[in-house]
Amino acid sequence: MTEFFASQWHITDDCDQRCKHCYIFSEENNKPIITMSYTIIEKVFQNCIRMCEKTGRKAYFILTGGDPILHPDFWKILGLFKENNIPFGILGNPFHLNDTVCQKLHSYGCKFYQLSLDGLKETHDYFRKKAHITQH
Ligand code: SF4
Repeated sequence: MTEFFASQWHITDDCDQRCKHCYIFSEENNKPIITMSYTIIEKVFQNCIRMCEKTGRKAYFILTGGDPILHPDFWKILGLFKENNIPFGILGNPFHLNDTVCQKLHSYGCKFYQLSLDGLKETHDYFRKKAHITQH
């Protein structure tokens, strides 16, 4: 069986939450949001695929951020994975999930969607936006 080479890939800082512990927003208020362009993403993707071919591994990407779904080319990136039959998961912010989005993720081949709970409602909402569940 081919072993995986799994990469956790931070594609954008963008996120509409402001969790108390978040390293992106905790130190520098008003710093610009950094988002990797699709051109660079495609280059990194191809480099990783080539490296995996040379080392006999199968690439496996885990997209994160920020909230990766807010990347302007999020579905295009998933299309790149699908076209190349590359498995992937998401450490995502469920704030933008609904039935349609979940079905679309599944159709692109998403293997898992990881999110976090910080405790019961009162504890969780203290750290995060009210009635919200997140991945970081
Ligand atoms: S959801 Fe994640 S990226 Fe967004 S503010 Fe919270 S910890 Fe930071």
